Amino acid sequence: MAFTLPELSYGHDALQPHISAETIDYHYGKHHRAYVENLNKLVPGTEYENMTLEEIINKAEGPIFNNAAQVWNHNFYWSCLSPGVSSTPIGPMALAIKKYFGGIDEFKQQFTQAALSNFGSGWTWLVKKPGGILAIENTSNADTPIARGDKPLLTCDVWEHAYYIDYRNARAQYVENFWKLVDWEYITQRLMG
Ligand code: MN
Repeated sequence: MAFTLPELSYGHDALQPHISAETIDYHYGKHHRAYVENLNKLVPGTEYENMTLEEIINKAEGPIFNNAAQVWNHNFYWSCLSPGVSSTPIGPMALAIKKYFGGIDEFKQQFTQAALSNFGSGWTWLVKKPGGILAIENTSNADTPIARGDKPLLTCDVWEHAYYIDYRNARAQYVENFWKLVDWEYITQRLMG
């Protein structure tokens, strides 16, 4: 069964001015799409043919792992963002952030620091580890926390293709504006789910 590029729940211009329509045209319309298309070329005739994305990520290596993980990571990234969101978590998410990071400002600072220090191409994550512990993690290239059984709650794509059109080399400015788009309702659903 072929993998598909999921529809975004918002228009390509909906995240402006923080993420431009041109960035989404390229990042979603070309990069994300290419991972889906590559995966669909690589899996037919292999043991991965009837597996879910998560199953492939837990078993594959090399190009099949890289493309499957990048499809999953991007599907998740777009879900973490939304136009017109409230800028702070409430309820159980606010309590969890306070418990593990001291508060929302401390959490944002630590996550931002991780995103800025993630060398080269990669992803910065808030994950729920077995036992319910929340942690910030960096991964490189296509690597993803779900390969180690951690549940992602939030991610920031820090590959240059995520921000180069809008911010050139200024990753810090991209991450600063990323916070204005984070959909805390979705992240809270992930925490509780
Ligand atoms: Mn990307």
